[in-house]
Amino acid sequence: MVKKYLILSILLLVASSTSSGQIIPNPQSIEEGEGYFVWNSPARVINNLKDKRFDSVIEYVHLLPDSLVTFSKRHNCPIIKLAQGKPNDFVNGEAYELYIKPDAVEIKAGSQAGLFYGIQTLLWLRGISHGGMIRCATIKDSPVFGYRGFMLDVSRHFFNKEFIFKQIDLLSSIKVNVLHLHLVDTGGWRIEIKKYPQLTSGTAWRTHKDWREWNRAGGNFIPENEGGYGGFYTQDDIRDIIKYASLHQMEVIPEIDLPGHSSEVLAVMPFLRCDGPTSKWTSEMCLGNERTYRFCVDILNEIMDLFPSKYIHIGGDECNTSAWAGCSLCKELMKREGIKSPNHLQSYFTKRIEKYVSSRGKTIIGWDEMLDDCLAPNAVIMSWHEDPDGRDKIIKQGHPMIISSEGHFYLDYYQDYPIVEPICFGGYTPLRKTYQFDPYEDLSGNIDLVKGLQCNLWTEAVQTPEHAERMIYPRILAMAEISWSGAKQKDYDEFASRVKEYGNILVRLGYHPFDISGEFGPRPGSNIPVSSLSTGKDVSYLKPWSENFPAARESSLTDGFLGDWGMNGMRWQGFDAVMDVTVDLKEVRDIHSVQTSFMQNSFTGMFLPEQFEIQISDNGSDFKTIYSLSFNARQNMEYCIEDFGWSGSNSCRFIRIIATHPSGWCWLMCDEIIVS
Ligand SMILES: [Zn+2]
Repeated sequence: MVKKYLILSILLLVASSTSSGQIIPNPQSIEEGEGYFVWNSPARVINNLKDKRFDSVIEYVHLLPDSLVTFSKRHNCPIIKLAQGKPNDFVNGEAYELYIKPDAVEIKAGSQAGLFYGIQTLLWLRGISHGGMIRCATIKDSPVFGYRGFMLDVSRHFFNKEFIFKQIDLLSSIKVNVLHLHLVDTGGWRIEIKKYPQLTSGTAWRTHKDWREWNRAGGNFIPENEGGYGGFYTQDDIRDIIKYASLHQMEVIPEIDLPGHSSEVLAVMPFLRCDGPTSKWTSEMCLGNERTYRFCVDILNEIMDLFPSKYIHIGGDECNTSAWAGCSLCKELMKREGIKSPNHLQSYFTKRIEKYVSSRGKTIIGWDEMLDDCLAPNAVIMSWHEDPDGRDKIIKQGHPMIISSEGHFYLDYYQDYPIVEPICFGGYTPLRKTYQFDPYEDLSGNIDLVKGLQCNLWTEAVQTPEHAERMIYPRILAMAEISWSGAKQKDYDEFASRVKEYGNILVRLGYHPFDISGEFGPRPGSNIPVSSLSTGKDVSYLKPWSENFPAARESSLTDGFLGDWGMNGMRWQGFDAVMDVTVDLKEVRDIHSVQTSFMQNSFTGMFLPEQFEIQISDNGSDFKTIYSLSFNARQNMEYCIEDFGWSGSNSCRFIRIIATHPSGWCWLMCDEIIVS
């Protein structure tokens, strides 16, 4: 068994506080009493747990270091009692009560999860105490949501099992209870499958570690032991992870992303590819080929044999239907089954897979894109889109959901000014934004459908364990607190002060959290609305915005709001390499300045325009150019926001802005047009 990283280290902590209100997540109720329980020598742990259901918590206690607990009958030891409560007193399966008195601590719960969480709270109180002096108190606690998850993408970059054990130590101490492993994707297949050893021998290693360099070089895999970058989990590794997680009351949910995001599968099993003209460039398996279904069932059989979890995540996101549309086998299937369009092929596939998974007594989870009228009602939707209409659809169909909202819980986004941060994906999600998430919004009272919340770490840009930890902590603390303690009466400043304290502790424990005390903060000006001649005026689009980045749609460029550091949210509107828009001031006006800004984030494929032109007109048909610029000075920059504009003296009713990038494949990101 692996050593306990967290608990061993916690003994070394220097005391900083004694208040039980300092822990994360905040307990539901704390009544502080008089005096202290002194835990400065090994505590004797006694219990009345006769029930076999409690075996794993006893096993967990035996993992704690000898300097902390003892099972011998020595005299004058601090005493910790683990007690089985009456089931009726603990309706919530994870609830616990913690009675801290001068002579002993009693932890009472109706389940081993409850006892485990009581122990975690006690350990943190000791960790932040002065010399083991823990203030007497009665704590009664239980979570608001039963699902509190963390997803790690181990395909784009591989993280070994020791890293996962280390995260389980910390995540379970903040009462996160699900580890979702995104095991397979375009970056490599990361789990041993006995029936198809070629999946790992052929795709778990690749030519380059760096995501962009690897893609630029052609995205090729190479065999093991030939100096490539990568790795995978053997089935024994997975059993170790499941066992370790289970001792920490965490469930491990595997994700096998089907039928898209599968280019690594197609690299070693090319016969699962469609036969049409676009199939070379897409990463979807052929849905008209019966071998695809046999392959998926074989994989899922081994996965379901290995993982005891009730849920099996089958992905289902971001399928490109163009290969199916041009494939003879897919077209044949559509004809035979009366499937109207390639878009509906995925539903056919999902239904077949779901039926099989259900026949083995398991339930599927899938991303929003899996949603379909014919899906079994118990299928769980993992909702990442921040689209109220999409959430309405989930509610109407009555599916349970796990909210992993992109703008709040995607940990691959920047958490501070991108210039001072390691390269990340293009969003901006500071701790404050994660903490401000309201799980009750857009639900029309259907909170019962929400099983819980989850943070996701996608790892295209995350190459090292240290970078991964920087992205996870402290933002996951906010998710942990909202999902355990609830969203009522949130006070960010108070939370941030606890996070700062906690961050110091994490550093001493050997983690690498982002330090919020040195935070640069939001983009200056993005918090205050601007007002100008163009504010609220109509904008016409000669070329529509990209559906990937609609921002606030037709009002976006004149809504009076500057964008923040990232592409997420309603501010930055994206265009496929050409922006051509005209603002109508409603009447001819004197103008002295036209200003706008563009954002470059090269990792995400967003670049500044290389041609920029401003034209004006009185009648909307005869335009004259007042400003023109050719610009490519920032091509090699990872990130920047640049102002583009004109100042002078003129008059007009219509202002046309044309911005282009010659590559034709990148996004141009613009936030606001300000005319004065
Ligand atoms: Zn096909």
